[in-house]
Amino acid sequence: MLTNTDKTLDHAVQADRQHVWHHLTQHKPFETQNPSIMVEGKGMRLWDANGTEYLDAVSGGVWTVNVGYGRASIANAVCEQLTRLNYYAGSGGTIPAALFAEKLLEKMPGLSRVYYSNSGSEANEKVYKMVRQISAQHYNGKKSKILYRERDYHGTTIAALSACGQAQRMDGYGPFLDGFVAVPDCLEYRRTDTSPESFAEISVKAIENVILREGPETIGLLCLEPITAGGGVIVPPDGYWPRVMDLCRKYDILLHIDEVVCGFGRTGEWFGYQNYGVQPDFVTMAKGVASGYAAISCTVTTEAVFEKFKAFPDDPMNAFRDISTFGGCTAGPAAAIENLAILERENLLENTRQMGAYLEQKLLAFKDKYAMVGDVRGKGLFWGVELVQDRMSDKTPVSEKVIGAIVGHCRSQGVLIGATNRSLPGYNNTLCLSPALIATTHDLDRITSAIDKALETVA
Ligand code: PMP
Repeated sequence: MLTNTDKTLDHAVQADRQHVWHHLTQHKPFETQNPSIMVEGKGMRLWDANGTEYLDAVSGGVWTVNVGYGRASIANAVCEQLTRLNYYAGSGGTIPAALFAEKLLEKMPGLSRVYYSNSGSEANEKVYKMVRQISAQHYNGKKSKILYRERDYHGTTIAALSACGQAQRMDGYGPFLDGFVAVPDCLEYRRTDTSPESFAEISVKAIENVILREGPETIGLLCLEPITAGGGVIVPPDGYWPRVMDLCRKYDILLHIDEVVCGFGRTGEWFGYQNYGVQPDFVTMAKGVASGYAAISCTVTTEAVFEKFKAFPDDPMNAFRDISTFGGCTAGPAAAIENLAILERENLLENTRQMGAYLEQKLLAFKDKYAMVGDVRGKGLFWGVELVQDRMSDKTPVSEKVIGAIVGHCRSQGVLIGATNRSLPGYNNTLCLSPALIATTHDLDRITSAIDKALETVA
């Protein structure tokens, strides 16, 4: 292992401090202190440039490294592919892109086409472009509006931010695109007036009200996360998803499910939507597709959608006129094939279900112990713990300072946990856990014991 006595490490830390602009980061503190940069990973463990070891409970910080760090078989698959053919444009084809698409679609009955790009944002933008083109060529441009849900997130580009349900992520970056319309979220916590089933009805009725207000003939797409991730780990109430599907069929609206976080086993099924018996028209995925071993994202759709781009073969404008230079070439799908093989070989979906049930019990126990633990939500190895002033008497969110102290306390015990982003003032109060799908009861015991100590200290 590299250690902090290694001169290249000191050099890298200083180079980072002087030259790298980190994502989502205020850099002022780095004027007087060094950033912590990660150097090595194995399984669920990480080492930073000081040689400090961490147990990573958030899969690379943002729900990405589903199969864990240090997988030589993925590195070898990528190396072999790059040596044979590193690149050819996505307007052509390559062996790994073809074989990964075939393998992926075996997991996604009812869907039949894969369009490759490099990030979750891009994969989502492809959907918006496909829908706009369908509207232009099949509905005289009238069915172009895109519905998104409050608190959902679909990416960082201007179009993806136009579909963002988190206000502060957008603040200062406008103007945004026309034709993106919000529908209400479906967070049940704090609703004392309804049963889950009637809450599902109310939530979907609220979506229908927006559809009727805007005019169903103007709406091309409804775009949702299966479980809202960064917006608070929001699991929809029972009965929500079948109603959403009925709504889309009733008003001829295509259903897009953003699986960038939930995809590739995170919830114990291949995709989050498969927990709910939904049949989407579009599914997008990124992070877990290759667990961060290479950049790859996919926009997956039905033959019916694909056919619309062949309806006027003599009109060159009918093809999907979109390109992504690096989309699908070739390290990404090579890594993704082996990533998927690992998930199958090591039975990691089953492990996720079993470990998920174990983690749920441990997290629920915090509710008995700490008044500040308001709600525990999640599925598989994807959990949120919402913290409030007092579960019984005051469900006001705890301050960002409290959340920061808990995350910091866990880190000082060698455990990396996450928290919902700062984009939701008053609602950035949820701790996030999304360990790699290889997690054992021992790992989960360590994670929850660190949280326990942090809660005890802060409470
Ligand atoms: N969709 C969801 C649900 C996400 O959580 C994210 C990223 N956190 C994205 C899309 C955007 O993915 P990327 O950062 O790869 O563009």
